[in-house]
Amino acid sequence: EAAIVFDGVRKEYPNGTVAVGDLSLSVREHEMLALVGPSGCGKSTTLRMTNRLVEPSAGRILLRGEDITQGDPVALRRRIGYVIQNVGLFPHRTVAQNVATVPGLLGWDKARTRARVGELLELVGLAPDTYAKRYPHELSGGERQRVGVARALATDPPVLLMDEPFGAVDPAGRRRLQTEFRRIQRELGTTVLFVTHDIDEAVHLGDRIAVFSFGGRLEQLAEPLTVLAH
Ligand code: ADP
Ligand code: ADP
Repeated sequence: EAAIVFDGVRKEYPNGTVAVGDLSLSVREHEMLALVGPSGCGKSTTLRMTNRLVEPSAGRILLRGEDITQGDPVALRRRIGYVIQNVGLFPHRTVAQNVATVPGLLGWDKARTRARVGELLELVGLAPDTYAKRYPHELSGGERQRVGVARALATDPPVLLMDEPFGAVDPAGRRRLQTEFRRIQRELGTTVLFVTHDIDEAVHLGDRIAVFSFGGRLEQLAEPLTVLAH
């Protein structure tokens, strides 16, 4: 069964812009699917519809067979992690407090939260003894991005959405972070739908690549080598 199905999805913004037109696409369980295409072709809109930051104008989006528009968006976002460029960490909260955000909202007890925070920081390569008490401004761009990934994984969501996840990281750090992220993704089996304008990133991380053109039209959906040859 597919992890996410877009079934005839369309998004027309109130100003008349058709960001996504009649999109049909399946994301497989446990795959990393890259969305690529020119700026303004509807990639972010597609991601944001998937966690209901944006409501589709038509069509259905299914998460493991369930229509996501039924039910509570907050409950949905517990099952779908979201990582964006420049991550949006809370500047006045420590690394540990940032990672503990969602567990805090869910009322996890202290011991469980502490164990989870420690595990996540280890997972993304930030030793808790060194990093837990630091503030975002005391981190490099790559370290901040790692915290963003840890925070998004806090409740072990089956699906992760990432919008230009490593775009703000310097090129040298970016490749290492991509490779580590790939390892974590395989280990956890998380299904990842991610947007990038960096074709190299799409090829390095993607199991498949969806190429969009303007108006959110799916031009091609294929494995990286096929897309490169095209
Ligand atoms: P991409 O992520 O591929 O750069 P977006 O999904 O951000 O593309 O945008 C697709 C189109 O929708 C663009 O023409 C953009 O200007 C437009 N758009 C995005 N958000 C809004 C909005 N909130 N209101 C109106 N138009 C928008
Ligand atoms: P607070 O005063 O909000 O509890 P802390 O910074 O002490 O602030 O902790 C925030 C969260 O991060 C808590 O859930 C805590 O258990 C966890 N945490 C703090 N330090 C560590 C650490 N070194 N290893 C793992 N988890 C930690």
